[in-house]
Amino acid sequence: MTPTNQLASLTSSRETHGVVPLPRIHRAMPAGQRTVPNALASLGLASPASELQPCLNPLCPGRKPASARTIVSESAPTDSTRTGSCAWPQRGRPGYFCSSACRDQYDYERTQLAEDIQALAEAIASPGGTYRDRRKVQAELAKRRWAWQRYLFDPAQVTHTEPPPEKGAT
Ligand SMILES: [Zn+2]
Repeated sequence: MTPTNQLASLTSSRETHGVVPLPRIHRAMPAGQRTVPNALASLGLASPASELQPCLNPLCPGRKPASARTIVSESAPTDSTRTGSCAWPQRGRPGYFCSSACRDQYDYERTQLAEDIQALAEAIASPGGTYRDRRKVQAELAKRRWAWQRYLFDPAQVTHTEPPPEKGAT
């Protein structure tokens, strides 16, 4: 909001993070200046990548705000492993789900929705039913496709991004 020029924001310190937004790395390192030495020099001035990402399971109990959790008493004994977020690992593959329970729930719901969508799509593709009935089934299909948009991530298709193996060079 403040009319700070790019140089000013480039020199802003980490302490000002949150007050004066730090530039994104692509702005801190404009096209034509993108080299490893410049990247290293710019990284400290640019907004850092998050070390924490939300769990990709839309139904993850850990993703609900604490206030919402206390309202629903049946979900009170929450599994402490379902934290709702994934931290960038020190080594190995980064995770996409906060827990194996979330991965299983995601896989299950994803598969079930796909089957539901196929079943309703087949029903619509077949003749019969009044206009009103067909509209109703179409709406149910649309609702499930809408839900499916939350399950576009296919864990089986992911290209794993691993942190570089080196660790210890100071
Ligand atoms: Zn989760």
